[in-house]
Amino acid sequence: IQLSSVIVVVLLSLCISQIWRGWVSPSRMRALLLGLLTLSLTMTLVRIPFATFMVDDNRLILFSNPRLAWIGLFAMLLLICVGFALVLLVRERVELRYRSAAQRDELTGLLNRRGFMEEAVPAGRKSGPMALMILDLDRFKQVNDQFGHAAGDRVLALFAEVLLLELRPGDVAARIGGEEFAALLPDVRPETARQIAERIRASFRQELDRLKLGAGALECSVSIGLALGGAPQTAVRAEVEAAILRNMARADAALYEAKAGGRDRIEVAAIVVEDRPAA
Ligand code: GH3
Ligand code: MG
Ligand code: MG
Repeated sequence: IQLSSVIVVVLLSLCISQIWRGWVSPSRMRALLLGLLTLSLTMTLVRIPFATFMVDDNRLILFSNPRLAWIGLFAMLLLICVGFALVLLVRERVELRYRSAAQRDELTGLLNRRGFMEEAVPAGRKSGPMALMILDLDRFKQVNDQFGHAAGDRVLALFAEVLLLELRPGDVAARIGGEEFAALLPDVRPETARQIAERIRASFRQELDRLKLGAGALECSVSIGLALGGAPQTAVRAEVEAAILRNMARADAALYEAKAGGRDRIEVAAIVVEDRPAA
């Protein structure tokens, strides 16, 4: 009993450490499984002193004592529950993988358009004014023509990195088209949003200079349309979604102006009166 308990304790500890480390997203099943495994571990540990001291006349009374038999039964039920929880955990993991594949862009690792709306709505519900950026790489077709499609892909991935680096932790960033990106910044002051947009623009140029793609200068930059305000003072999903779509349209119009104005710049959309929260 001592030997088998030690083996089981080692295996359970390995299980617990694997499940503890090998999972990044929050999961209720994971918490349940960790709880059950820890309980099993504790019970197995307790078995060791029991097996050592519950010896009477050289006979083990571990199984003859009815109270201890109940503990054995409980341990068995616990193991069955662990089995079920493991199966459910695997199912949850598969679902998560499918969902993530449907909502993520493979090249940049950012959300895609569908994922953006999925995550922007809860983020947009936060109090305070939101900012919405539409970001489009300038003359990107030329990058492809001059350096090839693979180089273009590297520039896209680099831009995604810059975007994630400059945005704040709660901001939502996505690749919504070929070389078009969107970012929602919840609860942000207008000056801050503008500063972040400016940092993205400047930082992208800087990083591009370091990217060695081949002969010739790489002429690429980013234009950003920025829509400020329009915080929906409501928890109704449809209204938040509508406010985000309105802001996207406004940011898109501002982006168009940035392109017309010479590119490599930020243009802020005019604040619309109807977007102001009621007094
Ligand atoms: P503008 O400054 O007006 O935005 O010009 P642009 O060249 O950036 O815009 P345009 O819409 O003419 O070209 C976008 C290009 O982006 C065309 C397309 O081949 C390229 N593209 C779209 N998706 C990808 C991709 O996944 N990888 C690469 N390498 N290129 C892509
Ligand atoms: Mg472009
Ligand atoms: Mg474009």
